[in-house]
Amino acid sequence: MCPSDNTEVKPVCLIVPTCARVSSRRWLNLQEYQSKKLMQESGVTVQRFYVADNAPDALQAAKRLGAKEIVLKAQILAGGRGKGVFDSGLKGGVHLTKDPSAVGELANRMLGYSLTTKQTPKEGVKVKTVMVAEALDITRETYFAILMDRACNGPVMVGSPQGGMDIEEVADKTPELIFKEVIDIFEGVRDDQALRMAANLGFKGPLERQAADQIKRLYDLFLKVDATQVEVNPLGETPEGQVVCFDAKINFDDNAEFRQKAVFALDDMSESDPTETEAAKWDLKYIGLDGNIACFVNGAGLAMATCDIIDLHGGKPANFLDLGGGVKEKQVYEAFKLLTADPKVEAILVNIFGGIVNCAIIANGITKACRELELKVPLVVRLEGTNVQEAKRILSESGLPIVAANDLEDAAKKAVAAIAKK
Ligand code: ADP
Ligand code: MG
Repeated sequence: MCPSDNTEVKPVCLIVPTCARVSSRRWLNLQEYQSKKLMQESGVTVQRFYVADNAPDALQAAKRLGAKEIVLKAQILAGGRGKGVFDSGLKGGVHLTKDPSAVGELANRMLGYSLTTKQTPKEGVKVKTVMVAEALDITRETYFAILMDRACNGPVMVGSPQGGMDIEEVADKTPELIFKEVIDIFEGVRDDQALRMAANLGFKGPLERQAADQIKRLYDLFLKVDATQVEVNPLGETPEGQVVCFDAKINFDDNAEFRQKAVFALDDMSESDPTETEAAKWDLKYIGLDGNIACFVNGAGLAMATCDIIDLHGGKPANFLDLGGGVKEKQVYEAFKLLTADPKVEAILVNIFGGIVNCAIIANGITKACRELELKVPLVVRLEGTNVQEAKRILSESGLPIVAANDLEDAAKKAVAAIAKK
């Protein structure tokens, strides 16, 4: 049961549009066309489409569609494309045209260029693929999403009769137009819930049943692919009386990767931070920041504390790399390689608390990395916990210029001082 009915549930896009940029890679996100293929397989209504990675193919796809009107959509993982801008000068990542022969030229101004939207970094995201789809008239745009909500210990449906490109504003200014239905994970979406949501979305007459049917299919998909979020904005209606999912954003639970191999195989990583991707290969979590002290820690809590204390002593973290639990020497070496590859880094601070982790393994990894990578920046090490005496001996007998620190505060002060001295 949801603990309280007025828990404020907002779809992820309404809360932290840029969260994917500042957290490590979690919740696989696919391109719209990939998500729409999954929707099609679940009987969800989407418009006909092709995908192209060059302008001649886009043009051909437009002709092949034989549609009254065509919509060309840049494929990037961020939303807000409709109101985005390309560095080619083209405005709008979503273009409608009645002339299929215009599609080649439009695709030319999208492919290979960066698209900046309110959900991308300032420099935008390079477009490598476009979706060429049949455009349909839309009489009304609604918003619909299903997401896992911690407060309710399960899935929740969120919808608004006023969907489309200004949904964030709707959520902000008229929250009464955002409706929610808590789903019982054992029971699934009941008919009365699906119909109530359809009515709240403003679907009338036969459209209400159709929308309820789409909602149930979207929930089936949500379960089938282990999604953490399925977002359709807009879920629109056409003058011909069809309820259609015009956009699609699905996030997947990374913990389900082992049973969702086909879905995870679709991840092309091309929009992921390359350092984060490399770190993930070694089971390390890397977060890039903008200072000059690299932090090598174990555990997210310790990472935060380390960043805070560095800040308190006038320094700025360049990144942090979280080593996690069961550590191997090779991982420590790879971690150092990643940390030192960042040209901003002027000092490294190691802050490891060995609970499960054996400090001696870390110490051996550190000395090996220092020698093989010919470390050029000052290294401050604070180790505590399991087998720490042995670890300290390994470091001090290594003959390497490693600065030992007694505690976190001492370590932060020494790292900041090491940079100041340079
Ligand atoms: P984004 O959310 O990234 O801005 P959308 O896919 O939602 O991109 O497209 C933006 C807008 O473009 C939609 O709100 C809708 O008005 C219009 N649009 C998208 N797909 C179609 C389509 N197939 N037919 C007609 N209009 C469309
Ligand atoms: Mg959209």
